[in-house]
Amino acid sequence: MTDYPTLLAPLDLGFTTLKNRVLMGSMHTGLEETGDWNRVAEFYAARARGDVGLMVTGGIAPNREGGVAPGAAAMGSQKDIDNHAIATERVHAAGGKICMQILHAGRYSFSPECVAPSPIKSPISLFRPNELDEDGIEKQIADIVSTALNAQKAGYDGVEIMGSEGYFLNEFLVTHTNKRTDRWGGSYENRMRLPVEVVRRVREAVGPEFILIYRLSMIDLIPNGSTHAEVVQLAQAVEQAGATIINTGIGWHEARIPTIATSVPRAAFAWVTKKLMGKVGIPLITSNRINTPDVGEDVLVSGCADMVSMARPMLADAQFVAKAMAGQGDHIAPCIACNQACLDHTFGGKLSTCLVNPRACNETELVIEKAEVVKSVAVVGAGPAGLSTALAAAERGHKVTLFDKADRIGGQLNMAKEVPGKEEFRGFVDWYGVMVAEAGITLKLGQEAGADDLAGFDEVVIATGVIPRDPGIKGQDGANVVNYIDVLRGKVKVGARVAIIGAGGIGFDVAEYLVQEGVSPTLDLPAWMREWGVTDPEIQRSGLAPEGPQPHAPARAVTLVQRKTEKHGKRLGKTTGWIHRATLKMMQVEFVGGANYERITDQGLHVSFGEARENPTLIAVDTIVLCAGQVPERTLADALVAKGVACHVIGGADVAAELDAKRAIDQGTRLAAGL
Ligand code: NAP
Ligand code: SF4
Repeated sequence: MTDYPTLLAPLDLGFTTLKNRVLMGSMHTGLEETGDWNRVAEFYAARARGDVGLMVTGGIAPNREGGVAPGAAAMGSQKDIDNHAIATERVHAAGGKICMQILHAGRYSFSPECVAPSPIKSPISLFRPNELDEDGIEKQIADIVSTALNAQKAGYDGVEIMGSEGYFLNEFLVTHTNKRTDRWGGSYENRMRLPVEVVRRVREAVGPEFILIYRLSMIDLIPNGSTHAEVVQLAQAVEQAGATIINTGIGWHEARIPTIATSVPRAAFAWVTKKLMGKVGIPLITSNRINTPDVGEDVLVSGCADMVSMARPMLADAQFVAKAMAGQGDHIAPCIACNQACLDHTFGGKLSTCLVNPRACNETELVIEKAEVVKSVAVVGAGPAGLSTALAAAERGHKVTLFDKADRIGGQLNMAKEVPGKEEFRGFVDWYGVMVAEAGITLKLGQEAGADDLAGFDEVVIATGVIPRDPGIKGQDGANVVNYIDVLRGKVKVGARVAIIGAGGIGFDVAEYLVQEGVSPTLDLPAWMREWGVTDPEIQRSGLAPEGPQPHAPARAVTLVQRKTEKHGKRLGKTTGWIHRATLKMMQVEFVGGANYERITDQGLHVSFGEARENPTLIAVDTIVLCAGQVPERTLADALVAKGVACHVIGGADVAAELDAKRAIDQGTRLAAGL
């Protein structure tokens, strides 16, 4: 008997059957654009071997004007068909099924050639789109149809037509972007004509036995988006036109409400899909922030959908479904929804991978093979760098001993998990605990390893992390000054008025920790919806609450201070920095930039501004928290070097600047792959 009987039950589509109800949702990893089709094939084949029910590729452009950016992957030539066939054959050989997503980016295309129903630039685009005429619309339909036919020739099991997230087809549906007065605009019947026509024509072209998923925006979260009644009308029309499955899209890319970030509650939007259940006869897929088999099972059992989409979790663990089937749910490497190595990479023009699993998209490049010679490996420091080294080394067959002076594993991850909105880090540390035990690693906690303890090991890895930087501010020894470690560990009392020195990732984390009291909104969906102003699209068009965001009162008055004059949080994640800034603004946190730290007194923090140290100002507070960055903790490494003992230094102990778990885990895994 499985723990997940509903999630793992087959789904009969009539002409074909999916082996379970887990969809790997589409992700723009950038893999297809590398042109390395062996690498693409191995990425998908690894997930097929992991028993996922169905996969959808990253978005493939139907034509130049519809690509997300110049050079976007396409499916227009025999060469494209041959390349994609390498991937589909490998997936089928592994027992999997795969659909190709056809993504027409519309006005979100990063190109002056972009097209849309009306020439209205989006707030997140550089280019004003070109308005399509009747011939132009016909060309887009024809290009989407021929792309679907080519996908069929390449051996795909179906296509997903991207109709959500504010892309091309979605733009026709709402008056926000469609101001046309011809048969493609005006009434809702006219506005939905294009998506329905696309589905009808694709179905006509590909025949009945080809999966056709339509991704439908069920809650737009932008002004003048769709009503729920319109969503139902579209879903029924799309079904009639020949869709096999309807997948859920949540929010447009330009929406100012987070939809997939880690601070979004798990399965936060499953209720949106549920509203459509029973109103169409074809299966519905729900999506967003579903990252464990338990959550997926709950969502299905509570009747929210027929299938769940998990995209990023399939980066974190290719074996997700296979482990769930084997009753090893706690062995699944959890996606913590950080976006740091996936979406932030995509938007930074880099290939996606995963913070938790650096092998994602690097399946052919970062290989963990059995070692030819088994070695004894000492790893000092059980933070992310040390843990990832230890696990990968053990996987290779080495005998690993992991030391940490703390009485638990996790290092700085243990601080992250205390921050409201970062609760996913709890499961991440727990997973490391399970895997360390499973791998037979000898754990030596609560003891500071010295050079003598490390004698006799074949390899010594120093992952001792970081210590807080001393900012050297006059008066910082006062009783009203504390450091972030003691704050996040709850070891010190913090007053009602607080100044935070340093607005890096940790300064932001500490601010979020200090303004929040009681249950984190991430663990309380109604509270989270109130905070961000999300409501039922049946009550209010688009799901935007008429009263707007209703944040709770902040627990403290916080001022976040930095010396730089740039925007606070500018260096935070590309896709998440705005969420942290918006959260702190809602909590009335004051941002002070360009400050010189003059001194700290009982009254608070004295600052001045500019090179001439003008405008002396007292920030009157009860407590000052130091979050001024970190420096490497290299005491042990230096001692070993002094004794002539060879060691590898990784993570924060290697370079503290801009350290984060992504770099630490990647470095640790790569080191172990070569030990
Ligand atoms: P950080 O990002 O390097 O920020 C350090 C802050 O301290 C900066 O705001 C800097 O700003 C200030 N500072 C530096 N030297 C100072 C000095 N001598 N005196 C006073 N202020 C000084 O470091 P962090 O905040 O400690 O974070 C460490 C790492 O963890 C970062 O790489 C970060 O990305 C990562 N992290 C990420 C997240 C996330 O949300 N993705 C969350 C937590 C941590 P000024 O120089 O302008 O004063
Ligand atoms: Fe999930 Fe973060 Fe990995 Fe992206 S990088 S898949 S969000 S854990």
